[in-house]
Amino acid sequence: MSEVVSTRVSTYSRELRERFVTALRGVSEYQVIKFELCDESGTWHVGETVETPKITGDSHSQIMAELESDVIGLITGKEISEAIRSIEESNLTGSTKAAVDIALNSVIGKGVRQGFSIATDVTIPITSIENLPALVADRVAAGFTYFKVKANNEPTADLIAKLQLIEELTPSGSHIRIDANQAWDFGHTAEVLAAISDSGLVIDYLEQPTPARDFAALAKVKAISLIPIMADESCFTPADLTELIALNAMDLVNLKLLKAGGLTIAREMANTAAAAGIGVYIGSMMEGDQSLSAAASLASEVAPELVHDLDASWWAKESDLRYESGRLYL
Ligand SMILES: [Mg+2]
Repeated sequence: MSEVVSTRVSTYSRELRERFVTALRGVSEYQVIKFELCDESGTWHVGETVETPKITGDSHSQIMAELESDVIGLITGKEISEAIRSIEESNLTGSTKAAVDIALNSVIGKGVRQGFSIATDVTIPITSIENLPALVADRVAAGFTYFKVKANNEPTADLIAKLQLIEELTPSGSHIRIDANQAWDFGHTAEVLAAISDSGLVIDYLEQPTPARDFAALAKVKAISLIPIMADESCFTPADLTELIALNAMDLVNLKLLKAGGLTIAREMANTAAAAGIGVYIGSMMEGDQSLSAAASLASEVAPELVHDLDASWWAKESDLRYESGRLYL
């Protein structure tokens, strides 16, 4: 049985090829926090996290403080399964838990795997309609055929015009998903759904149209929608998942390691969701290669046939990961 012998924390910065803009935030460069732990054989295992205060509420300084102090006492000298449990049961932020849990899963062979590929969409950020042709051309040239279009609280006619243009600009057989990142209320969502229906546009799914904690609004949307509804920011914890299932508030869920607090809980949530007939997709924040690789490994474990949301490293100016024909290769 392996034990955690020591830990270390470092950071590196990641620059994006272009600004990533959603209804919640805009980002061009960010710090990746790298957490490593050494097992008894002297092997170092890596986990990563980032701050996403607008989404998780966890700040860089808080995560660093937790990794550099609290975590050491919780896992040092402990056997791995005990360390995993003690992180899971702690009051640490989800972003901190994720970094530690990814590294701990690596020790027991349930972390990042190599030698596989997984299909992913690519994000089209919020931008003006004039900028769309160049943005879409870049993504089509890179081989993507699934496009996640970030929406804002723009007039419905403007959104429809954008979606129609994207459909024209992408190869036939391409797929469009919409992610409103909580920007709409129920009334606006109903208006958009009706307009999509009238337009004849084919949309894979609509992700998180309404505010995160308003589960009733999401359930109302699902009740009227002909398009599958996905929960993202509404679903952080196993308790959220259980409540969303009970309310019949979603068809699909976007699980992320930084929301769930790592692989252990995300894996459990994926099983719970699948057992309830919910389609499980794995996504990520704008993260580093290591935590994205952990997310991709989970995606290929729980839903290898689906097209996930794992384009974060495509956005990075520098990455060791390879994207080809809409797939991420590890
Ligand atoms: Mg989302």
